[in-house]
Amino acid sequence: MSAVLTIDGAQGEGGGQILRSSLALSMVTGRPVRIERIRAGRKKSGLMRQHLTAVRAAQRVSSAHVTGDAIGSAEVTFEPGPVEGGDFQFSIGTAGSTTLVLQAILPALVLAERPSTVVLEGGTHNPFAPPFDFLARTFLPVLSRMGPSVVATLERPGFFPAGGGRIRVEVEPVSRLRPVSLEQRGDIVRRAATATVANLSPSIADRELKMVARKLNWPPKHLEVRELRDTPGPGNILTIDVESTSVCEVFTGFGELRRPAEDVANQAIRQCRDYLKSEAPVGEYLADQLLLPMAIAGSGSFRTTRLTRHATTHIDLIRMFLDCRVETDETKRGDVFVGVC
Ligand code: AMP
Repeated sequence: MSAVLTIDGAQGEGGGQILRSSLALSMVTGRPVRIERIRAGRKKSGLMRQHLTAVRAAQRVSSAHVTGDAIGSAEVTFEPGPVEGGDFQFSIGTAGSTTLVLQAILPALVLAERPSTVVLEGGTHNPFAPPFDFLARTFLPVLSRMGPSVVATLERPGFFPAGGGRIRVEVEPVSRLRPVSLEQRGDIVRRAATATVANLSPSIADRELKMVARKLNWPPKHLEVRELRDTPGPGNILTIDVESTSVCEVFTGFGELRRPAEDVANQAIRQCRDYLKSEAPVGEYLADQLLLPMAIAGSGSFRTTRLTRHATTHIDLIRMFLDCRVETDETKRGDVFVGVC
């Protein structure tokens, strides 16, 4: 058995991502890990419900030997077994993000012995996490270009803070991930702003789309209101899709109690404007999420609008597990080239 790798969970960005990615990389490489000082800098440190579900999901998927899997725990040891694939169901039990739990297990499942079906229950649209729309339209299509087929279905939306959502993910694995290169954006082929309200007045969605029309100068054919009634709690998000020949980026504004619709709209509009100002195909969230599969593939490259702390933390973590080089270079246009080899 290879030596246990000790990870400082408080390094860099210091959040749940270090835990999830360490679990993912441990399963992919077979290397046992001890993750210490988990989320030490956060207001409520240690494992919260969503992180604990990620640990337990990783345990199930790889028949791992685990210690420290309890709410509030600051240290977890994880010794993975083989990843075989199969049918799995994980329930977070709160509005914790289903897409974040998926981040911990998906890299292993795309390289498993056989196909998997994963059903995850919890939040599907949470602030500070990829909303289902980003997972389905931005991240998974890029991952699928690396070889595996990964299809996600939103069976029931669950907005933070009520949760109660459910997603299903079907995975057809491959034995190796193929490198991809995302350096040119190409032409924009689709633009769409969708304001979704669940158990709330459609006037909120109208106000958000009015902002999009005014600030992005988009005509009505690109704007859509979606009203949902079959969700447990209230919810509101605005997603703005910009699809080019290389990638579909989804920018999101998350509604919250007492947050004006105009603020929600501005959150998404600002990200969209920054993206359109640059020529890079990969936005900042996709950049940090793409690093892991790309490093597992062993090579690949992309150009992104900017590197966040999440991304640089990911790079440091990847270097601890994998024998690959990650180069970053600011280009003359002000964006960042990232190359893995
Ligand atoms: P952490 O803060 O460590 O729990 O990690 C949050 C993760 O959620 C990162 O992988 C981010 O890229 C991702 N994320 C946060 N907000 C968004 C968003 N609006 N769209 C897509 N991904 C997001």
